[in-house]
Amino acid sequence: MTSRLVGNLRADQIRSGVVRGPAGLFQRRARPHVFGEPAFDVELVPEEVCAARPHAIAWSAHGRMVAAAAADGVETGWLAIRSAYRSVALQAQIWDYRLNERREARRVTGLPPLPERELERQQRLWTARPGQSAHHTGFALDLALYPLGTREGRRSPAYRWLAEHARRFGFYPYLPEPWHWEYDPPGLVAQVAELRRRLTAGEPADDLLRAPDVIPVASPAERGRLPATL
Ligand SMILES: [Zn+2]
Repeated sequence: MTSRLVGNLRADQIRSGVVRGPAGLFQRRARPHVFGEPAFDVELVPEEVCAARPHAIAWSAHGRMVAAAAADGVETGWLAIRSAYRSVALQAQIWDYRLNERREARRVTGLPPLPERELERQQRLWTARPGQSAHHTGFALDLALYPLGTREGRRSPAYRWLAEHARRFGFYPYLPEPWHWEYDPPGLVAQVAELRRRLTAGEPADDLLRAPDVIPVASPAERGRLPATL
């Protein structure tokens, strides 16, 4: 029987979206087609506070999560935010840059050019198309676990802590990348809609730019579906 570890769960403990074991590790993605890019600049944390500019709601929840991790003795440097908000325009630049890099690599090694379709298919395995990245929302955070890579990242004490506790703070893993976590607790769609309504109307919205302290655990019906393979 397989005993691959995903966080502190074995892969065989997770079946068809039903999480088994104590950690409740399942994937739930911040949906760029639902949230889009922040409609107001104030939704993002100012650059001088966090250069990665996460969404203010996610930033607030991340801060509480880091405090809880520190209290549990986790080395919280691993949980620092390295990358968060990326505009569609920036992603388009990244996309073009990487595509060109791919073309050049073939040219330099003397390989014949690939049809654009095939080139883009290969590229999509590594880079989200502009408009399709969860990072457009500001709710996707790449943490400092990045340099550990996938295998070491999942084995690290910081990841194991996240696997067990992050959901309490509204964060869900993107399972292929241990550094990438997304803030999307139940009720976030309504909260963001209300935030934008108030900002449009010029009403105070400070209370909404700070998420509640503890996020209720999602019911099974609300849970995102797990990918077929981990
Ligand atoms: Zn990411």
